[in-house]
Amino acid sequence: MATDTKYIFVTGGVTSSLGKGIIAASLAKLLQAQGYRTTIQKLDPYINVDPGTLNPYEHGECYVTDDGAETDLDLGHYERFLNVPTSQANNVTTGRIYQSVIQKERRGEFLGKTVQVIPHITDEIKNRIQILGNSGDYDIVITEIGGTVGDIESLPYVEAVRQLKWDLGEHNALVIHLTLVPFLAAAGELKTKPTQHSVKTLMESGVQADILVCRTEHELPQELRDKLARFCNVRKEAIIQSIDASTIYDVPNLMLDQGLDKVVLKSLDLKSSVPNLERWNQFLTRHKNPKSTITIGLIGKYVELQDSYKSILEAFIHAGAENEVKVNVESIHSESLDPKTVAKSLSHLDAVLVAPGFGERGIEGKIEAIRYVREHNIPFLGICLGMQMAVIEYSRNILGLADANSVEMDPDTKNPVINLMEEQKAVTEKGGTMRLGAWVCKLEQNTLAASIYNSTSILERHRHRFEYNSDYKTQLEAAGMQSTGFNPETNLVEIVEIPTHPWFVGVQYHPEYKSTVANPHPLFVAFVAAALKHKQTK
Ligand code: GLN
Repeated sequence: MATDTKYIFVTGGVTSSLGKGIIAASLAKLLQAQGYRTTIQKLDPYINVDPGTLNPYEHGECYVTDDGAETDLDLGHYERFLNVPTSQANNVTTGRIYQSVIQKERRGEFLGKTVQVIPHITDEIKNRIQILGNSGDYDIVITEIGGTVGDIESLPYVEAVRQLKWDLGEHNALVIHLTLVPFLAAAGELKTKPTQHSVKTLMESGVQADILVCRTEHELPQELRDKLARFCNVRKEAIIQSIDASTIYDVPNLMLDQGLDKVVLKSLDLKSSVPNLERWNQFLTRHKNPKSTITIGLIGKYVELQDSYKSILEAFIHAGAENEVKVNVESIHSESLDPKTVAKSLSHLDAVLVAPGFGERGIEGKIEAIRYVREHNIPFLGICLGMQMAVIEYSRNILGLADANSVEMDPDTKNPVINLMEEQKAVTEKGGTMRLGAWVCKLEQNTLAASIYNSTSILERHRHRFEYNSDYKTQLEAAGMQSTGFNPETNLVEIVEIPTHPWFVGVQYHPEYKSTVANPHPLFVAFVAAALKHKQTK
């Protein structure tokens, strides 16, 4: 099979949560920084067609791409590291693979044949892997296989990798296996046996790992690397340690120090050079040398989970570096807030972000928090549900519409200030049916939004069913809540502001998805700056 595109497969062994996504993104960064057009794809072995129907307790945040795909949160890391948009083609699940094979079967594309895991499912996986390579847009495609080798549900993926590696031929594909080298405190030793077993498990499926990336809490001594090389049929220089880092943004440099990029490029018969990480390292220097610290409250209902608001937390890191401040994010459970607790919970904060979300749980706490920050001039950013709650709060407490609500929470409210979108009214299925992906938004001149973006036309990503009800626009504006961003086709209100407040912005879209190391999101940069200003003046 002739191909110009080179393929790298990243598999995981021993345990989950070793950071395959970060390793894939870091390697991609090093390759990109040497001039190779690189993209990363995630294959997820679960049966949901996409993660849009999962709650954040399952797999963390659902990340949304420009083309409206609801995807795994690793795609967020890919975009944040590479500053190149991903798309639906970058995330494929078992559910999607089976769905398309079954649709083909129903259309009669396999007439007369028995449809089987091998070859039909594996062929579909191989096609999905090669879609990105065949687009002509990339020199290197890195495919991360979700799950752990040995899992029943991962088997068709490992088989597809085996076949593809064979089809593509030498120097066109390689396998990086990420494992754990645990430290046994009682023995005072790092242990290689789990890695040996994991490499063997992979070999039972006919796949030889070319490179081992070993996650470890301690430096891997040379004799241990030699041992792993000997037992696992991997060259010594291809044993790479991935030691715990204080920030994920250190990992590209750690991989560079270990020579991961060189080993990869040599195996793929590609030239290596010194990667240009100037912008990246500038960011790291600013990130690690903040001149001050601010504390921002993140109000949501999944606060006990690190991954639920991943993109928001990362956007704060980018915006913090840009402002040379450390952003301390204090997670506050919206259910803990009521008129009695709100001052105690929020008065020390330099700014408050009310998070996106679905359903009724915790919304009264969010509304109470917004009332408090509005009345106390604390900078506020409301994202999606957070913006909707800001409109409800203003309607209740300023317009005096005590029962104002979103029809999501109260379908019978007399004052549906947040309403179901027109095109959503006939929708009954839940999967992939929200307003999704990038939409143009026009900004009113001489507004905070226009000055933050330094533009009057922006493109931002959405994921919601409900909207600002324009029937209340005249009233809300007369009372001081301005609508400053609109969808030019439908006139939907996308941004609200309170000009008499020092910094109060609600956005119907998700700015956090577009913040990257190379391009910190302007709204987060301005919000962090407002928090800093608030801290200095209070
Ligand atoms: N539940 C709200 C809606 O569907 C907000 C969604 C969100 O915050 N992403 O409109």
